[in-house]
Amino acid sequence: MTFDYNHPFLNGETKKLWIGGEWVEARSGETFECMDPSRGEAATLVSRGGPDDIDAAVAAARSALEGEWANWTPVDRQALMHKVAQAIDDRFEDLARIESIDMGAPLSRTALFRAWVKRTFNYYAALAASTRGDVFSNSAPGKFMAYSHKAPVGVVGAIIPWNGPMITQFWSICPTLASGCTLVLKPAEEAPLSTLMLAEIMHEAGVPAGVINVVPGPGPTAGNALASHMGVDKINFTGSTLTGRKIIEASASNMKRVALELGGKSPDIVFADADLDAAATGAAMACFANTGQICFAGTRLFVERSIYDDFVERVAAVGKMLKVGPALSDDSQLGPLTSQAQFDRVNRYFNAANADGARLVTGGEPLDIGGGYFVPPTVYADVSNDMTIAREEIFGPVLSAIPFDTEEEAIALANDTVYGLGGGVWSRDVGRVHRVAHAIKTGMVWANCYGVTDPAVSFAGTKQSGYGVKGGPYAIEEFQTAKTVWINMG
Ligand code: ADP
Repeated sequence: MTFDYNHPFLNGETKKLWIGGEWVEARSGETFECMDPSRGEAATLVSRGGPDDIDAAVAAARSALEGEWANWTPVDRQALMHKVAQAIDDRFEDLARIESIDMGAPLSRTALFRAWVKRTFNYYAALAASTRGDVFSNSAPGKFMAYSHKAPVGVVGAIIPWNGPMITQFWSICPTLASGCTLVLKPAEEAPLSTLMLAEIMHEAGVPAGVINVVPGPGPTAGNALASHMGVDKINFTGSTLTGRKIIEASASNMKRVALELGGKSPDIVFADADLDAAATGAAMACFANTGQICFAGTRLFVERSIYDDFVERVAAVGKMLKVGPALSDDSQLGPLTSQAQFDRVNRYFNAANADGARLVTGGEPLDIGGGYFVPPTVYADVSNDMTIAREEIFGPVLSAIPFDTEEEAIALANDTVYGLGGGVWSRDVGRVHRVAHAIKTGMVWANCYGVTDPAVSFAGTKQSGYGVKGGPYAIEEFQTAKTVWINMG
């Protein structure tokens, strides 16, 4: 490991697991190479957590849950969250750099998360201090009062994906701190570094030992141990639909609560009356942002036939203009794919598109840039909704452009998928925008924009894109259980 990143967290030492407020080695003594996808070489060694380490982390989380942390008042936790948010902000440049090194998104992207993280802490800190229960009027014979209050659900396990740990982990960290739960984070082996660095920052800002633990390790061993653990009360999973099914099965051990954000094949529908300049840029970025590695990416582009050829050319032109390069280069707009496995997978879809007879408009073959896992923004035209590239989640910058003739046809094609995460509609006709937004069977629809998110707004999927809400006032309830108390006033 000779490459010098000039980064305080990458000091040549093996990164350990964070359990019970300290760095510990994996019980097995094993490590793995954490790859830098821009170079195709290891950035650092990381301890490989396994089931024994998950056991230790869950024990630490349980002991914190039942210890002093239980006595923290809502306002105590709120104040802690503000301190943590400030500490993260103070170190944000280092965090953004390590995320870029680790999963390949350029600094132009990871630096943008600073404001989002601040907003998320602020929003959940407000919820921490404003939680309330209910008093129920009731007709039970006799005289009874019944009330419910919100108790923390308990020990939460969060299984984090590699395509955007920086964002995903806060959907678990913030509601954990706000609700008084405790947490075991299991980052993906492809990108564990920002989560590990955060553990240290949060500890220094005053998060008590055991409240947040981090155990990177393989999905089938460490991840499965967390999902099936008898001592875990809830699992938050973000990843593929295939793995989501395994999580549900593993969770049956103790019937823990499950929230799943899974795959997608989201439709983006462009009508001829749209602002076509805005729509072309919007539709391109809906698919190409983060090199296509976004669960709600708009990867099926439905275009009204009268503008189809021209519009597809415009989207392709946006793709051609985007600068693909190493994550740490100042002028990179898109980075590499995050892993060799993902690179191989996207290249297999290039072959599938050719075999199925899709017409390549731009991209379609790997880029040779310094040994990294680079592919270009790619547009296929004359795709039909039943081709492999239009049905399967690729998780790469690969757009399938499909023509339609009527609004009804566009809606039917958009809904013809097992997934239901995001969707877009571009039109100047207000009535049509609402009709289509309502008719698309997904958890979220963006009209004349794409992919806007905010911690105060619910983010959820439907169909095989999963269930459970992140963001918005309902999200904290996923970390709480309503405990009802009956008082005999007889
Ligand atoms: P991908 O297949 O694209 O890598 P996954 O859904 O498998 O995506 O990975 C998302 C997260 O799920 C990662 O942290 C990974 O380690 C974890 N994971 C993978 N397989 C399992 C499993 N069987 N049980 C629990 N977690 C898993």
